[in-house]
Amino acid sequence: MKRIGLIFLALLLLFCAGCSTKAPVAAKPEAVKTAPAKQEQKQVVQKTTTELTLMKDTPYATPAYVYKASVEGPAVMVVGGVHGNEPAGSLAAQKFCDVDLLKGTLIVIPKANITALAAEVRTLPETGDLNRSYPGKKAGTPAEEITYEIVQLMQQYKVAMVLDLHEGYAFNTEEPKSVGETILPGKDDISTILAIDAMEHVNKQITDPKKKFSVLANPIAGSTAYYANTVLKVPAFTIETSSRQPLEDRVKYSFTIASFLVASQGVIAQ
Ligand SMILES: [Zn+2]
Repeated sequence: MKRIGLIFLALLLLFCAGCSTKAPVAAKPEAVKTAPAKQEQKQVVQKTTTELTLMKDTPYATPAYVYKASVEGPAVMVVGGVHGNEPAGSLAAQKFCDVDLLKGTLIVIPKANITALAAEVRTLPETGDLNRSYPGKKAGTPAEEITYEIVQLMQQYKVAMVLDLHEGYAFNTEEPKSVGETILPGKDDISTILAIDAMEHVNKQITDPKKKFSVLANPIAGSTAYYANTVLKVPAFTIETSSRQPLEDRVKYSFTIASFLVASQGVIAQ
């Protein structure tokens, strides 16, 4: 009996090791057997464009594009440029300004932290870190005010999914402390399943095992995706390429993953 008890304890410890932060997600959750239904609407439709300005009349003024298809459907938000030294996320988000829509609404904020992007730094000291500032404040630090305005848009359009595009400094497969080449889904099963599907999709393009994407557990508190997932209760993702890859590849992989996820909502074609 003692031996069985020890085995049980060992299994329990092994299980709990998987609960630590940034643990790799090994398999799709069993609780949800089916992925979200594929879209039926396949035809490109007319879209209207509304260009808004966040942080209007401040040095942080930055565009937010709202593309509305002529066919009703869910709203998906794509954010880039939260960290100014991660240009691939901003450029990949910008590519969504040129995609055809099948239905719904696509909201694109490609340069969330525009002064940091111009200075090519993570953020300026006076701004604060946007990705630790959600849900933000109407009157606070610049980071809190920017994130507050992004949250207003999420709520106004009742977003069904949120994507935030970033870069890590290394390859997570080699240096687990770096989130480079990973997807961090929200805590719900749908986010996890879609992240694994997106990872498998992008990894078909990558031959070097160390450069392949992984899915990590536990989104970062205070981040865009964390807020959308835990407060708005919608699937949300932080997508991290590795700055050790050429910029062209980082943009390509970021856009490939993000497109796959936006397409899962039927807003664009797969
Ligand atoms: Zn980042």
